Amino acid sequence: MPVALEGLPARVEIYEVGPRDGLQNEATILPVDVKAEFVRRLVAAGLRTVELTSFVRPGLVPQLADAEELLAAVDRTDGARFPVLVPNERGLDRALASGVTEIAIFGSATESFAQRNLGGSVEESLAMFAPVVDRALAEGLPVRAYLSMCFGDPWEGHVPIPQVVTAATRLMGLGCSELSLGDTIGVATPGHVIALLDALAEAGLGSDRLAVHFHDTYGQALANTLAALQYGVTTVDAAAGGLGGCPFAKSATGNLATEDLVWQLHGLGIETGVDLVALARTSLWLAEQLGRPSPSRTVQALATQLPTTERPHPSRAS
Ligand code: MG
Repeated sequence: MPVALEGLPARVEIYEVGPRDGLQNEATILPVDVKAEFVRRLVAAGLRTVELTSFVRPGLVPQLADAEELLAAVDRTDGARFPVLVPNERGLDRALASGVTEIAIFGSATESFAQRNLGGSVEESLAMFAPVVDRALAEGLPVRAYLSMCFGDPWEGHVPIPQVVTAATRLMGLGCSELSLGDTIGVATPGHVIALLDALAEAGLGSDRLAVHFHDTYGQALANTLAALQYGVTTVDAAAGGLGGCPFAKSATGNLATEDLVWQLHGLGIETGVDLVALARTSLWLAEQLGRPSPSRTVQALATQLPTTERPHPSRAS
């Protein structure tokens, strides 16, 4: 029985990142037909926005080297949104050739991460994204911007809020419609989240254009999400089953698990459109494909209530 809390939205849009951000950080490389089946099940479970893949150079991220094949294998006619990550103009060419209708770019709040992940300074990465966004907008494609390392950075430690605000306003200044604030190593806590949202609002970037992207490294993802919802954010990134161990924080827990998020939202009486049991079944199935159990507490709890035949294999679930 849901029990509401005052000051929360009636509905939350879940931006599912499992097939891209999740699988990109898994050791196992899945065949394209398994990925397509994963996406089909996510949509069948009620997820309306599923980030499919990334058009990075195939050699850089072998997990996502099959971007074109996956786009060809997914039925994109059923009303769901299927954005893809595009790192540069070459990636945009490939995305357009595959009939993509929505893209995302990936910026950094810190110089260290920009150098290591984007191959240049923050300034250089903005210069690289500018023509990508211009061309995407000219083609009628909305662009989401990710901003990583918004709270902490593995090389620099604490990331000052003014630095994040500068990076955020410059990314949005390119013409992006939504900014996803990434806690890439999962170190944020709720007061820090509110302080950042306050500073962004003061800089003219209101919660209607923001999404949050939390990692559960220190078990704070849901607390941080609730703080953001109370502030007025209504789009939350999550990965089914908590896919994607974070490569920068040597721990097994990655993205906030969509099931954990949905459990909280439904408990608060907030609409998501997601069938939680169908979603957990999907993550249990995918865990078998990956050969490792889902780190999601909600998936684990729901698994014990499913018929024995659907429970994870004991050797893998321990
Ligand atoms: Mg992530």
